[in-house]
Amino acid sequence: MSLAAGCPRCPIPVVRLEGGSEGWSCPRHGRVRPLWRPAEASYDAFTEHLQASAEFPTYLPWPMSPGWSVTDFGVVGDAPDHPVATMTCCSGTSELDGPVDLLMIAEEAGTGLGSRCAGLPGDGPGDDVGDGPPAVRVHIGSKSVGLWVVSTSSSNQEFDRSVLAGEAEGRWLWIVLRPAAAVLLFRDDWLLRDVSHLGPPLVEMPFGGPKPEW
Ligand SMILES: [Zn+2]
Repeated sequence: MSLAAGCPRCPIPVVRLEGGSEGWSCPRHGRVRPLWRPAEASYDAFTEHLQASAEFPTYLPWPMSPGWSVTDFGVVGDAPDHPVATMTCCSGTSELDGPVDLLMIAEEAGTGLGSRCAGLPGDGPGDDVGDGPPAVRVHIGSKSVGLWVVSTSSSNQEFDRSVLAGEAEGRWLWIVLRPAAAVLLFRDDWLLRDVSHLGPPLVEMPFGGPKPEW
């Protein structure tokens, strides 16, 4: 197993609970469902990720733009039977913005992974979602999913990113783009694909490259 356990809400190392109570504990957040991430993004580790996230969606932009690669991914759950969140990151270069990271997080409410990737306090995207018409729409399969801009003004301003969030299949869908200006790359015809059952075409996908910091 190349996936290692961490806290979904913070970078502090978790400890495995022993004895009567099984599970994982974060010094700051107490008992947590661990986030399972590879040390390095690879095809083999992604196969493990898909096994550990079973029936839970794992999203990637589809098709991937030339020159982009999958640089990070993770699944939150008391592995492998009850996943509650997944994240994937694709990285590449745009002419205007230089290096760009695109993080996609699907999570059940209360998980806290999306907030962490977005650099926001709390568990969810807050009241911005559903306030007025969505800023953009993405397509997931045949469904159109509205995404709203989530304000980052109340939190770490040094962290240059744009945050979008909406609801897909009864779960939060977060999109975090870094740098913030890369949000202009977003077009209404963007397509995300749930690759959890994709199989062989995954072999063709590029993995690796510098991981995003979050
Ligand atoms: Zn923690």
